[in-house]
Amino acid sequence: MSRQIIVGNWKMNGLSKDSTARTEAILSALPDTAVDIVICPPFTQLAAIASLTANSPVACGAQDCHMESKGAFTGDISPEMLADLGVSHVILGHSERRQTHGEIDETVREKTVAAIKAGLTPIVCIGETEDQRETGQAEDVLGWQIKGSLPDGFNGILAYEPIWAIGTGLAATTSDITDAMTFLRAELVRQFGENGKTIQILYGGSVNAGNASEILAIPDVAGALVGGASLDPEAFLTIVRAASAH
Ligand code: PEP
Repeated sequence: MSRQIIVGNWKMNGLSKDSTARTEAILSALPDTAVDIVICPPFTQLAAIASLTANSPVACGAQDCHMESKGAFTGDISPEMLADLGVSHVILGHSERRQTHGEIDETVREKTVAAIKAGLTPIVCIGETEDQRETGQAEDVLGWQIKGSLPDGFNGILAYEPIWAIGTGLAATTSDITDAMTFLRAELVRQFGENGKTIQILYGGSVNAGNASEILAIPDVAGALVGGASLDPEAFLTIVRAASAH
């Protein structure tokens, strides 16, 4: 029996005061549910939030990291630096980074390898664009992203985030997600053998307090990666309450 995982991606939102208040609101109202919770604030808030969540059931994650452990990489943050702060997870290959920072599958794979080496749990994102979906290329794209972004022996978390559903308020339908999960599981097993059977797959894309129960009940959905709704503690906690162990 494994616990579902609810990951909050705050993106580039949060100054000191509101990040602390949001985290305290979550910590003070945690439901008694068997669920893993990860919150991913921006880099500037990681030290504070990692310290606030230490010794709590909530883990702290980053939204990106570099693939090298140190060196002449101005402005970058290494996975070792994250681990040093008490950060345990890192989101990698989010579509916003693929689209606006030119990240390709190979970059994502190198970062994933580095994150695992530093002891972090990578949450690797994949997903097709609306155009790829409409032209029938979604499965090919997802297959290639798995092949390119996940290293051999991958033992982290995969997040399926159809790009057309991110930040749009238009979550994929239950039937879309069911089909995608069936395809992704088969593809993981095809590419990784036995190991592919146990890789946890999250759904992300406009998950909110209203649709979380339905999405989290879909077979093989191991949890949710939540963007916008994770900024509202009440909404985030409602999503957490909708998760379960199964
Ligand atoms: C995300 O940023 O990963 C995401 C899924 O965002 P939203 O929930 O706002 O669609």
